[in-house]
Amino acid sequence: QSQELSQAHIDYHVALQALQEHGTRMVCTGKMHTDRICRFDYLCYCSEAEEFVFFHSNSSVMLPNLGSRRFQPALLDLSSVEDHNTQYFNFLELPVAALKFMPKPVFVPDVTLILNRFNPDNLMHVFHDDLIPAFYTMKQYSDLDDEARLVFMEGWAEGPHFDLYRLLSSKQPLLKEQLRNFGKLMCFTKSYVGLSKMTTWYQYGFVQPQGPKANMLVSGNEIRQFARALMEKMNITRGEEMEKEGGNTEDNKEKRDEYIVVFSRSATRLIVNEAELIMALAQEFQMRVVTVSLEEQSFPGIVQVISGASMLVSMHGAQLITSLFLPRGAAVVELFPFAVNPEQYTPYKTLATLPGMDLHYVSWRNTKEENTITHPDRPWEQGGIAHLEKEERERILASKDVPRHLCCRNPEWLYRIYQDTLVDIPSFVEVLKEGMKTKPSAKKSKSASTVHPGRVREAQCQTLVQTPNEAKLTVSWQIPWNLKYLKVREVKYEVWIQEQGENTYMPYILPQQNYTFSENIKPFTTYLVWVRCIFNKNLLGPFADVLMCRT
Ligand code: UDP
Repeated sequence: QSQELSQAHIDYHVALQALQEHGTRMVCTGKMHTDRICRFDYLCYCSEAEEFVFFHSNSSVMLPNLGSRRFQPALLDLSSVEDHNTQYFNFLELPVAALKFMPKPVFVPDVTLILNRFNPDNLMHVFHDDLIPAFYTMKQYSDLDDEARLVFMEGWAEGPHFDLYRLLSSKQPLLKEQLRNFGKLMCFTKSYVGLSKMTTWYQYGFVQPQGPKANMLVSGNEIRQFARALMEKMNITRGEEMEKEGGNTEDNKEKRDEYIVVFSRSATRLIVNEAELIMALAQEFQMRVVTVSLEEQSFPGIVQVISGASMLVSMHGAQLITSLFLPRGAAVVELFPFAVNPEQYTPYKTLATLPGMDLHYVSWRNTKEENTITHPDRPWEQGGIAHLEKEERERILASKDVPRHLCCRNPEWLYRIYQDTLVDIPSFVEVLKEGMKTKPSAKKSKSASTVHPGRVREAQCQTLVQTPNEAKLTVSWQIPWNLKYLKVREVKYEVWIQEQGENTYMPYILPQQNYTFSENIKPFTTYLVWVRCIFNKNLLGPFADVLMCRT
């Protein structure tokens, strides 16, 4: 039913005429293929050739017009993973005149977002690479609204988490293999191609070992806004109700039924003594402990539970992405198998510690080799090492720390990460107690403002030469314009003084709006002076225009 693209909505002949007259039109953002999203009128797809087609006419537009640089290496990345060579997008070109010899096009009336899902089988990838980027790409272009049509071109089947993709719009997303059902040539009336990478926080180690992205552009605020929108679509109100009531502020402690969630995996990377771990948690924190697993609960059911939890405990793994549904002030406790260094695998730590995410993060690592259960005879993708040369196998077995490596088939990494673990309870409780000492209160982080100071105004300097060796430099300024509307705990000013021609400067932090400098100030010298405002110790404002002060 959902595959019906009601042709009644559009006047077929008008659409065909428009295509024939104007051809395809493309206007993109982005200077590079890695930051580009393109908007098209009448982008077509030929299912026989499995290629997108750009029809040239006298009035078609192609911006950027890259010539053959369009193939170096591609027009754009179709997934949110940067510059991955299996995720490139391009189109073939034809003159509109060729339409005469082609099958009659079927027009897609919906505004369409065309993208590749990166790894729809893995829950972490589903959120990090697809759902959050698609959500914010749709926010960027207002015609990608609730009626938008998503088209997934990576070529995979729906996968286990398709219901989550369905939440992005009211229309059923289309898969590449379904496109052929619409005929040999389909033309998207209006479409966007590509995904915003602004929200991604992790790189998977294709060119350097995995880790947080170098230039993170997302804060916890955007992740939480996304989480709230998704929960609304899943009809979960719990998290929000809690927030309205005051969340987990101190005064609300009794009212709230506090509990810990253990996210368990039942196929691989097991916690062997899960029951014992649960007992220990209950005893240590005097809280109820509940378990969830992807094998046993529906996803909305899991989110419902997690959105009210005080702590989420889990083995490292994709299920930990659900920590984005935890309430502010909650803790994420991530367990790592033997020989796996928590510092080198930080997608969930990076998420939890995004500014404004307001989650507490603790990791525990199995350091006792006798407590690990290895699986050398499993298939290689589940960490088996039987296929390796004897020497390599012995090296891996002897190693107590997986060395840094690239994605994605490093056998030593797979062998270690797929171990089951008997969690040593005393060391686990110790790590947890130690880690929770610095627990940031939700209250504190909430009141911490993220409004930055404006520039200081009317900055000026006055100079005075006192003796052939002594001079004074007085710098004054007015408060930033936005300060008079704000309640700021602490307002300070930073002044940098640089002698012209020198490449060092003297920095000063001052509480007041003027100051007379006399130390290190020489007569008949030009100084460059920069002034900026700082709120609450670390919210820096911009510098005012540099002052040139001649003594
Ligand atoms: N998974 C699960 N239970 C298991 C093992 C895996 O629910 O016992 C899920 C896991 O959360 C992820 C997917 O199956 O969504 C793939 O798991 P895999 O171990 O390949 O990836 P990882 O968790 O290491 O990212």
